[in-house]
Amino acid sequence: MSTVEAKYVWKIYDEDVIAVKDASFRCENEEFVAVLGPSGCGKSSILRMIAGLEDITKGEMFFDGKVVNNLSPRDRNVALAFESYALYPPLSVYENIAFPLHARGLDKNEIRSKVQDIVDALELSDVLKRKPSKLSGGQQQRVSLARALVRDPSVLLLDEPLSHMDQRVRAVIRARIRRIHDELSTTTIYVTHDQEEAVALADKIIVMNLGVIQQIGTADDLFNYPSTQFVAGFIGEPSMNFLGGRVESQNRLAVRNGDKSVSWAIAEDIPSSHINTGVVVGIRPDKLEASKTSTSSGIRAKVDVVEFLGDYRILTLSLGEKVIKTIVPTDFSVSIDDTLWLTGLPEAIHVFEEKSGEALIKAKK
Ligand code: ADP
Ligand code: MG
Repeated sequence: MSTVEAKYVWKIYDEDVIAVKDASFRCENEEFVAVLGPSGCGKSSILRMIAGLEDITKGEMFFDGKVVNNLSPRDRNVALAFESYALYPPLSVYENIAFPLHARGLDKNEIRSKVQDIVDALELSDVLKRKPSKLSGGQQQRVSLARALVRDPSVLLLDEPLSHMDQRVRAVIRARIRRIHDELSTTTIYVTHDQEEAVALADKIIVMNLGVIQQIGTADDLFNYPSTQFVAGFIGEPSMNFLGGRVESQNRLAVRNGDKSVSWAIAEDIPSSHINTGVVVGIRPDKLEASKTSTSSGIRAKVDVVEFLGDYRILTLSLGEKVIKTIVPTDFSVSIDDTLWLTGLPEAIHVFEEKSGEALIKAKK
């Protein structure tokens, strides 16, 4: 068992590349934590510092309350699977996966049974005798994952472990990873740029951008109560719409509509100090009400694309330079070039400070 805690951790590479700025977070014992963010935001640097593969420039990393900054990777009882596979080319798939168990001195039968369990779960039973060079990228990645999982580590670190797998396999293996995590009673830290993966897998998600932790929370927290515009735009598909606006009063916004603006009611109070300041108004596509006739609160937009998706349609509209998405039921008949008037549901509107991107109210679902 292990808790992992970072306190004010920085990673500065040569030539002043600041990859991680002042990161603090805590992973509880047996928790499944995702580190989520776009490419280059510092996710792998964080994971490598937890593993001990990268020095911590400033700050402290703790395992079970003990500082591990100076412990070698071997002394941390962590298992890793990275995006690149690092398999041993001369060894077969079986030998690659069994390798860490041999190193620990387990007996042959025990090794066989452990390897069997993991290769069944990761659908590798058919390729056990092959050499890594005879496998596809996705298969090699699964071998690397199997080798990490078979060790029963106290901390399991996975860096984009599904990136080379095709869509179908990815969905299957994703579910198996979560199941194995639950069976092993390990603490898992999982790096991904894919919000869908993080939401599907993790108990807790750490969202990063430009080396800075933006927010830490459950998928539900992040989706419903994003604390910054970045988090709001990163979580959810199709992503949140953002419109220009100004605070009229504590519960009214002027939302830009071409050269003019319309007034939207909001369910929660904005601090009065923000009245008359510029804001970014956020509204999810399914929380915009579309009307085919002009409404006083509707922003006027033109339909560019209609996508049919089973029970509903996703419309892409243009409002001047801006692109807006909304979701309508299939019985809402609409064609390209139609004009619609869109109003945000008061209880679902998010408001962000224009300059800092910080949320000004905590919008409800
Ligand atoms: P992510 O995993 O989110 O894509 P990384 O942690 O790999 O991000 O990288 C964060 C930043 O640090 C990037 O700007 C990257 O170019 C830089 N970086 C990563 N590793 C090194 C290194 N060994 N030397 C110098 N810069 C690095
Ligand atoms: Mg990375």
